[in-house]
Amino acid sequence: MGWTACELHSHTNHSDGRQSLLELAQGAKALGFDCVALTDHNTMTGLKDRESIEQETGLTIISGMEWTTFYGHMVTIGLTEFVDWRPAGPGDIHEGVERVHALGGIAGMAHPYRIGNPMCTGCFWEFEIRDWNQLDYIEVWSGTFPSIKTDNARAFRLWTERLNDGFRIAATSGRDWHAQELTDAPISVTYLQLDENEGSITEQAVRALAAGRASVTMGPLVTLELRSEKMVYAIGDCVPEQDRSESYEAVVEIDFQVREGLWEFPEARYLITLMSNLGVIGEQHASSEQKQYRFEIPGKGLMWVRAELKGNARSMRTMIAFTNAIYAESEQAYD
Ligand SMILES: [Zn+2]
Ligand SMILES: [Zn+2]
Repeated sequence: MGWTACELHSHTNHSDGRQSLLELAQGAKALGFDCVALTDHNTMTGLKDRESIEQETGLTIISGMEWTTFYGHMVTIGLTEFVDWRPAGPGDIHEGVERVHALGGIAGMAHPYRIGNPMCTGCFWEFEIRDWNQLDYIEVWSGTFPSIKTDNARAFRLWTERLNDGFRIAATSGRDWHAQELTDAPISVTYLQLDENEGSITEQAVRALAAGRASVTMGPLVTLELRSEKMVYAIGDCVPEQDRSESYEAVVEIDFQVREGLWEFPEARYLITLMSNLGVIGEQHASSEQKQYRFEIPGKGLMWVRAELKGNARSMRTMIAFTNAIYAESEQAYD
């Protein structure tokens, strides 16, 4: 199973982007991506030359669309055909997500707290969500150098609150990439762990994200495992009630070689934090000399845990990377 570097939010000149699909694909390849999801606003016509561009660039292009309405933007990937956004009123997002699911796609909130009218019509999420189980993911990091933006910090908190409520929802980054322009701002990557069993890369990416097999980073790739006496659980997995224990071994691995040469942070003061519904349950300093870090963490009361990597970027102390969660089933039968 491979961790695949994906950009999950992009536009071309088929909506308001200022780049062709070929320019987008070449730019993504140069930044070390394996895949890019094309998520033009309310259209999929930009995918027309997809196959020849995939062959020319060696990059995989995932089908998608940004469902763009007055009440919010919803990113989708994996759609097999266009989903009409026009009927959507402020209470109708669930019907929209249902239609996305029916056409093989999955749906996430795009940049939910970006300033809306009159700056960016519909950018702020106002749809009423009655059932968080239905939404597949939240784009918690939007834009370049996303970790320092206050609207992203709110989105990140929203994700944490939903995890605390017991929902299993994935978190992604998306550059909302509109044009090829030089920037020295850190670029975020969503790594998806593809199962490579069957179907196209798009189908594999949809399955990975639906299952929460995702890790987001501006630099090294961070992965997490929980080990009980019997089993090993990976990102997106859930520890079943019968395998709950008083404590687990958590193993964080950091791959400092990914996208080599395309990112740089000062080595010193990397800090791994294990965050959970119980708060911080582990902390260790990290460096590129060491790949693996082991923690003993409590099992009692644990509903979810993720790894976060903090560091220094552009003279700021900030989050560099975070994994999606590993879950644990409720402990009703546990005493
Ligand atoms: Zn948008
Ligand atoms: Zn967008």
